[in-house]
This record gives sequence, C-alpha cells and structure tokens, in this order.
Amino acid sequence: MGYNTAMSMIFDLHTHSTASDGTTTPKELVQHAADQGITTLALTDHDTTDGLAEAAATAQSLGVGFVGGVEVSVNWNSHVVHIVGLGIDPDCRVLQDGLAVLRQFRNWRAEEMGRRLEKVGIAGAFEGAKRFSNGILIGRCHFARFLVKYGHAENEKKVFQHFLTRGKPGYVPGKWAELEDAVAWIRAAGGQAVIAHPARYPFTRTKLRRLLTAFTDAGGEGLEVVSGSHNRDENFNMARHAKEFALLASTGSDYHGPENPWRKLGRFQVLPDGCTPIWHNWASSSTLCAVSA
Ligand code: AMP
Ligand code: MN
Ligand code: MN
Ligand code: MN
Repeated sequence: MGYNTAMSMIFDLHTHSTASDGTTTPKELVQHAADQGITTLALTDHDTTDGLAEAAATAQSLGVGFVGGVEVSVNWNSHVVHIVGLGIDPDCRVLQDGLAVLRQFRNWRAEEMGRRLEKVGIAGAFEGAKRFSNGILIGRCHFARFLVKYGHAENEKKVFQHFLTRGKPGYVPGKWAELEDAVAWIRAAGGQAVIAHPARYPFTRTKLRRLLTAFTDAGGEGLEVVSGSHNRDENFNMARHAKEFALLASTGSDYHGPENPWRKLGRFQVLPDGCTPIWHNWASSSTLCAVSA
C-alpha cells in the first residue's frame, strides 16, 4: 500500500491559533498557510470557535479555501479523546452551549492546577499561565510555557512529563463532553465529526475498535488517518481501520505554531491509497467557507 500522490490540492484540516493553545493568531495562521501553498485549511481550536471569523476573513482575502472547525475535548472510557468538527456553523446554539460548559470547566481546572502546583512549591502558575493565553481559554500548553520560562523544566515535553500528565502534581482530571454529545453538537452545527490523532491514545486494538463502533453509532463520519502526530505505520494502520469502519479519511498537522518545526503546516496532506477523503463530496471552496467573513 502506498500514498495517493495524485492530489493537487493540499489540505490541512487540524490546526490551532491563539484562540486556544496555538501561538499564531488566526490571521497569521492563514497567511502562513497561503505561503505554504495550502489550498484548504481548517482552524480547529480546542473548545472554541472564537478564531473562525478572523481566519475566514483572511482566507477569503488570500484565496485560501477555509473550513470552520473545532476540536472538542471528550471523556471516553476513562480516557480523553479529541473529536474534530469540520464545516461547522459557529452560530449554532447547541454547539456553543456545549462548548461554553467545557470552557467553564477549563477555567476552574486552571485555578485548580495553580493550587496544586503551589503545593509543590511553584507559585503564581495560574496567573502566569493566563498571561501566555488570550485570557479567555487556558489549557495545559499555557502552563507548560510558563513553567519552561521560569526554569521548572527544560522544554514543554518535559513539563508535560513531570507536571501535567496523569499522576503528576499539576494534573487535574478532565470533566469533558460525552462522546455522543460532542458528535451531536457538531452535527447540529452542520459539521462532520472526525476522531483526532487516533494513534495517540493508549488503546489496544480492541479498545480502539470499541471507540470506532461507539463513534460511528453516534453519527461520527471521519477518522484522522494522517496526523502530524502519527508515524508512517500509524497512518497506514488507521487507513485500514477507516476502511473497515467505512469512515472518511481526514488529514491534519495539528499545527500549534512555529516552535515545533517538525510539525509543519500542510506537510501531512497525502492519504494512503484506497481511503475516501473526507472532502470527497465537499463542493467548491466557496461552500467550504461556512463561516462568513
Ligand atoms: P488541554 O486540552 O488543555 O488538556 O491540553 C491538551 C493539549 O496539550 C494538546 O492539544 C497538546 O497541544 C498539548 N499536549 C498534550 N500532551 C502533550 C505532551 N506530552 N507534550 C506536549 N504537548 C502536549
Ligand atoms: Mn493543543
Ligand atoms: Mn488533540
Ligand atoms: Mn489539536
């Protein structure tokens, strides 16, 4: 099995901006996408659609196809799973009400992370992390950037290892959305639900298949077969799962900014042979622009 290199379009359907835990503004992100020759970009910030209007306006002015998206945090089987929504209408009340609850939890969690880090001798982490964010949505990455800056760890990866993952002092278990709810919100907003970076979860094959079954039963349509966080074997393994479960294949870098040079925008666009791309029945780039500029 090889990669399907016949496509002339370059898709990147999983990216972040400063509206969540990315480091480039929506405008800068789209400008960068245009420079990289990306023909269709989705902005999929964690639990918010705040960046979509700015990104859509920039995309329109630069002639880049744009898809309004979101990455919803979900609890499934005592794990956190991320569900990307593509082609969503950000004016959908059902979606916005759902995301608002998740952001409320994020705010409480950030304060709780601050309290827990204080107990291990790290003062001011909540305020510090908040300064790395846009002040509205705080995630673990903002804590990581604060902790690296003040010398508590060498780099972000190590911060996660030592402070921010399960069992570590700054970790607070998430109270996120139910899988069925996340898919329902995305569908209510007219979007397609996609399981993000499926090879990143610490699942056995059996557990992954259980997730795919629950997801398709709930109305989920896509699997991120190709991801900036997958290796080649993982891409091909996920291509087989997509085919077996009749899921459409998506691709995304999970770009968070230029600080991670190995995760380039649009670098991971090519799908393995035999996948049905999630964009197979998308119309022209004008309809992709579900978010009006
Ligand atoms: P949150 O949704 O606030 O719990 O944060 C999740 C985000 O943290 C992910 O989207 C990644 O951007 C980042 N992240 C999670 N685990 C790691 C890790 N081990 N190293 C670096 N970044 C990570
Ligand atoms: Mn992130
Ligand atoms: Mn994710
Ligand atoms: Mn992501």
